Amino acid sequence: MVAQPAAWGLTMKTHWQAWRDRRGERGRVLSRQRARITELVCFARANSPFYRAHYADLTRDFRLTDLPPTSKPELMDRFDEWVTDPAVRLAEVEAHLADPARIGTLFRDRYLVSTTSGSSGQRAVVLQDERMRSVSTALGALRTMPALGPGLLRRVAAEGGRMASLVATDGHFGGVATAEFQRSRRASRAERLRLFSVHAPIAETVAELNEYQPTMLGGYATAQVALAHEQLAGRLRIAPALVTTGGEAIPAADRELLAQAFGAEVRNQYGCSEFMLLTFACALDRLHVNDDWAVLEPVDERGRPVTPGMPSTSVLLTNLANRVQPIIRYDLGDAVTVDADFCGCGRQFPTVRVQGRTNDLLALRAPDGSTVRLLPLAVTTVVDGLPGVRRFQIVQTAPDRLQVRVAATTEDAWPLLRDKLCGYLARQGLGTVDVSLDPRPPERDLVTGKFKLVLVAKAD
Ligand SMILES: [Zn+2]
Repeated sequence: MVAQPAAWGLTMKTHWQAWRDRRGERGRVLSRQRARITELVCFARANSPFYRAHYADLTRDFRLTDLPPTSKPELMDRFDEWVTDPAVRLAEVEAHLADPARIGTLFRDRYLVSTTSGSSGQRAVVLQDERMRSVSTALGALRTMPALGPGLLRRVAAEGGRMASLVATDGHFGGVATAEFQRSRRASRAERLRLFSVHAPIAETVAELNEYQPTMLGGYATAQVALAHEQLAGRLRIAPALVTTGGEAIPAADRELLAQAFGAEVRNQYGCSEFMLLTFACALDRLHVNDDWAVLEPVDERGRPVTPGMPSTSVLLTNLANRVQPIIRYDLGDAVTVDADFCGCGRQFPTVRVQGRTNDLLALRAPDGSTVRLLPLAVTTVVDGLPGVRRFQIVQTAPDRLQVRVAATTEDAWPLLRDKLCGYLARQGLGTVDVSLDPRPPERDLVTGKFKLVLVAKAD
């Protein structure tokens, strides 16, 4: 598709603004943020029946914190009223999502679609309009890449700039949909960005990576760690300059392992389907929030603001770029700490540390008595995004038994989920693992208050 003049103008504008505000200078960024909040709220009230009712009592001189928060289940229940384009209907979006051949294609030629459960385990359907995509491209090119620092950036470019991303490729997940969309737009991008399925047998992935020789390795941390062991064993022979870990919390020992096995710099990453480039990592490996386009408000268990330096229970996201599906004070469920000080790199964008998204590694018994370890994110992506499944939680209760807690909106959600999970287990040589329905709803850990999508039940 040829870019329209209006689209070109939008691209120029977002790139120029992202570049001009690249240092995150507080006065300018906060005034831009304020103007964008006002515009977004006006737009949402004018075009989204949900927000018109939600903000019925709003006064003219509101602050962001005056707005009542929103939750994923509430917005998903009222999806058709939430969106600002009356031509978008959830039933049709679901049909698009049900077709794997349409991963990374535009719904109604306008919107990139993805599904996510995030750290709360609740399913959401996310649409990205052209403005959102333009902002993401600008932030990637003008914030994420330069923040690598000149030395690393030069090395990545000199060695070909090939990115290998280890993800679940068989669903409309944010990273996959975005990558496939970019690949379909530019042949040069298709060559320099390849996705590797975390569900593929590791020997296959090792052989393909040896052939591809990536300069950057991204995707799920636990999959990267598994590959680091392959590298140390001599079967994998790659030399990426950069490893970016995201999606799962990673212990310091694993970071060290990745750095040593690959001789690479390891950088953290934090984003979500609702705002993929929420943050960028600088050379000091701190995660700067792009808060000219996204506002993060850490809150406690009662939704009250948490001061910088203190860990939050959850965090509210406001996406200032996307118009088709306004995300305003939206409860993401991630536990974060906003740092109290400015980063030594000189950028004034606030930095965050993320505690959320910790899941347990499953170790299941195969028929021959051996133990098969499954990556939590690989397991969840098998069942993530299934229609009718609002929330789920997979609990290992014995070496060969999994129980699944499901909050569903349709009767066939559980049989569908069970079939998908059993099929996956069978492919991992775990066809004898018993999978049953736990009638209890998905729940938070009573001690830590954290929600895990995948957990190993402690013996009583
Ligand atoms: Zn920094």
